[in-house]
Amino acid sequence: MAIREILREDDETLRKKCRLVERFDERLWTLLDDMAETMASANGVGLAAPQVGVIRRAVVIDVGEGLVELINPELVETSGNCEDVEGCLSSPGEYGLVPRPTYAKARAQDRNGNWFEVEGRDLMARAICHELDHLDGILFKDKVTEMLDPSELEFE
Ligand code: ZN
Repeated sequence: MAIREILREDDETLRKKCRLVERFDERLWTLLDDMAETMASANGVGLAAPQVGVIRRAVVIDVGEGLVELINPELVETSGNCEDVEGCLSSPGEYGLVPRPTYAKARAQDRNGNWFEVEGRDLMARAICHELDHLDGILFKDKVTEMLDPSELEFE
């Protein structure tokens, strides 16, 4: 495994619409392993392939309930709405309020190409929506209602 460089928000790669993953091979597995390690080393809860320069539909999420790998994910259901603090590994040190569903369900393929469903509430729902947005070139600042002063934020 290796830690990859995370692209910053002004990199045009982050604005591309990602292509479907078609091959579930060693190369994909290496990418997923590297993404998980890169996310963990940056203390993130999610990372999308375009953030490491790969324009393919793959994300990793770990909100503290274990690593989830989503290949070619699609949102199938959302409900609720909550505005809460959000950031992005491509915008280090910056946070803002973003409205997101409080519940999200997605279907996706695993690293072997098998379809499954994943659902989550609150932070997990927020992470699913944030990471899936990356696959269509959408960043959290496109949806932010108010940027926050980091010095006034308290993290527990
Ligand atoms: Zn992000």
